[in-house]
Amino acid sequence: MSTMREDLVVMKFGGTSVEDATAIDRTSKIVRGRRERGRKTIVVVSAMARVTDQLLAAANAAGRGDKAGALAISARLRTRHIETAAQLLENALFVSFQTWLDSEFDSLDDLLRGIAAVGELTPRTNDLVVSFGERLSSRIVAEAFAQRGLNGAHVDARTCIITDNQHGKAVPQETAIEARLAELVLPLVEKNQTPVMGGFIASTAEGVTTTLGRGGSDYTAALVGGGLHAGAIEIWTDVNGIMTTDPRVCPDALRVKTISFEEAAELAYFGAKVLHPATILPAVQKNIPVWVLNSKNPGNEGTQITALSPVCKSPFKSIATKKKLTIIDVVASRMLMSHGYLKAVFDVFDKYKCPVDMVSTSEVSISLTVDSNQQLPEICAELSKIADVKYEGQKALVCLVGEDIRGQQGIAAQVFAAVKHVNVRMISQGASEINMSFMIEESDVDEAVRSLHSHFFANPDPAVFDVEARVTVAAR
Ligand code: ASP
Ligand code: MG
Repeated sequence: MSTMREDLVVMKFGGTSVEDATAIDRTSKIVRGRRERGRKTIVVVSAMARVTDQLLAAANAAGRGDKAGALAISARLRTRHIETAAQLLENALFVSFQTWLDSEFDSLDDLLRGIAAVGELTPRTNDLVVSFGERLSSRIVAEAFAQRGLNGAHVDARTCIITDNQHGKAVPQETAIEARLAELVLPLVEKNQTPVMGGFIASTAEGVTTTLGRGGSDYTAALVGGGLHAGAIEIWTDVNGIMTTDPRVCPDALRVKTISFEEAAELAYFGAKVLHPATILPAVQKNIPVWVLNSKNPGNEGTQITALSPVCKSPFKSIATKKKLTIIDVVASRMLMSHGYLKAVFDVFDKYKCPVDMVSTSEVSISLTVDSNQQLPEICAELSKIADVKYEGQKALVCLVGEDIRGQQGIAAQVFAAVKHVNVRMISQGASEINMSFMIEESDVDEAVRSLHSHFFANPDPAVFDVEARVTVAAR
């Protein structure tokens, strides 16, 4: 096993951190700060904010045969990228770079025309279209870094991140990736350059472009950091890290300074916009600390995600919620005791590709919660063939996450005492033993969160939560 490169940091910047010239300039200052502290840097960037969505829209338009619609989207993207580069680069550099940008957009347009002519969009072609987002952003950022004295060196991520051929959500091949990184990226680092690569995009061993799934740039950062045994991975986004709860609901919410991978994974499910922890697994498995940081507030310390949970005096790290849920009650007196019943029920959800959030069962009934969606009437009609079905919308899930629930007594009593004024519809103690969740009316949720937060975070452990922020606010 190769040794850890303590001085190497992989910095990933999301779409908002590279959304325009101002953001890219800010990003370059953050990278400079790390280099001035003697760190070696590798940068992974997302496409500029919203570009992936727009490329997908262009691909879909072309797939429907709407060539004009697809080309119009591409034209707007061309203008945006050229304007950003023009603002970032001095004239001489910009002129040659614009030639390159134009030729890239010309080939994107050719591709869209081809799709429109055939009137069919395959997953493989779709990957090729969306890959332009990161191909372009990474080149612009590399050029901007080169001009700002950061020794930016562009690396086409597709030469390093090798995957299988499952287009849209390809599976990385870590051994091959490690070899490519050692061959193509490490020498640049050793020459004190800053390799800049696009996240999310990859290729098969044969060189066919693939992508790692939406939000996949974090995954790229973890693969690069893991593959090169970096000392740290930094995920730069536009929030201060993971919070004890949504600060808009609860102004008292605190930044969580350190959280375990497992806890972060539970929270991610609630769409905690920060990151999808599954994507940082390659780093966590190698014990590389991952930091979530705010590029609009770079002085903030962020949240550190570690393999093991820190010792914490509070049972919970964070309270998350999920709204717009529907509870479906399936009562099956006719099917009492018959086997294969749960399967029959879940097959219906499977058929409609409808994910189920929470389940609780009794001898004759099953309650399930799902995201409210347009297909509920169809799903329920189909379930009615095997059971009596009722459904009710406008429900919300409250979830408390913390490793220290394990083995502590009386936690459930405290939770339900804190929300004794609200009507609790369903309860589940997470199978992972690190979450406790319950369903209530959507209209009760903010109030319930505030009440739970003031109970469980009245005396937060300063080792784990940023209590200084609270003191500062109180002193104002
Ligand atoms: N640009 C890709 C997306 O929007 C990947 C990423 O940003 O992580 O999903
Ligand atoms: Mg993201």
